Amino acid sequence: MKEITSKTLITGIFGYPLSHTLSPAMHNKAFEALGLDYVYLPFPVSPENLPPAVKALSALGFKGVNITIPHKETVMKYLDEVAKEAELIGAVNTIVVKEGKLCGFNTDGSGFLNSLREAGFDPKGKKAVVLGAGGACRAVAMTLSWAGIGKLHLAARSVAKAENLARDISNFSSTWLEVSNLEDLTEQAIGEADLIINTTPVGMYPHVDELAPLNTNALHRGQLVCDLIYNPLQTTLLKEAGKQGCATLNGIGMLVYQGAESFSLWTEKSAPLEVMRQAVLNNVGKSRKKVP
Ligand code: NAP
Repeated sequence: MKEITSKTLITGIFGYPLSHTLSPAMHNKAFEALGLDYVYLPFPVSPENLPPAVKALSALGFKGVNITIPHKETVMKYLDEVAKEAELIGAVNTIVVKEGKLCGFNTDGSGFLNSLREAGFDPKGKKAVVLGAGGACRAVAMTLSWAGIGKLHLAARSVAKAENLARDISNFSSTWLEVSNLEDLTEQAIGEADLIINTTPVGMYPHVDELAPLNTNALHRGQLVCDLIYNPLQTTLLKEAGKQGCATLNGIGMLVYQGAESFSLWTEKSAPLEVMRQAVLNNVGKSRKKVP
């Protein structure tokens, strides 16, 4: 057990509820590996307590915190500065306290991009189909467009959300954009994509038998199918994609890389990626048992 003193630097995560977060295990192992006198704690902060909790970060001497559901958008108005990427994405998942000022960043999109590149996929000029239009989708789709993806087809249950996202992306990129209802996503659109990404929670524990809304018969060898879900490690979508000969990627890499970037923002040191990945993998099974 780590010794906590008045000099220990505090980080953590604000969310509500917070039953299943793997971030404390991931960050505390990383601090330990680098011999840093830091601690990372989970704080279940209800929406009405968000403003005082954020205000207290500076007074209590926090180095910073991660922000998760449901606060990623609402927290922005309580910060002194927001990084350009986070502002365009419209969400903050990392706060850094710098000389008493609260600065907001978004590391979700870059975390996804790094995990994609680690898997050997360069999005430049490629075609992607993205399922969903929620918060994680915004971060992923915007970052892919900054990375030069050629075409993005956004397929969502709420088409209006996907249209808003496409409009926001078109303001600053030349990515070819298409929007459709999930039900209208054709076999041709699926078949011609190089990359397919599920950003919906369909298939996440405990609903592990549910298949993300995609006609998997249209998938084929040569495509990369990603699921942002990391619990379970292999969703029904990834299993079906594997059967069709596709390469697959789960959400562990995104989780680790977004955490690594937050870690570096707080400590100004390179994150020990493999320590963080192992901590996550060691705890995915445990968290699965905890969630009712
Ligand atoms: P969110 O903001 O609630 O967005 C969820 C999206 O999925 C919305 O577009 C929603 O549509 C859609 N959706 C939900 N249920 C659906 C269904 N049955 N059929 C079709 N569409 C459905 O959530 P989020 O924060 O973006 O998170 C989405 C997923 O990404 C979660 O599984 C989360 O665990 C994962 N994630 C992973 C990482 C990582 O580090 N690996 C990071 C962030 C998120 P409506 O708008 O119509 O409701």
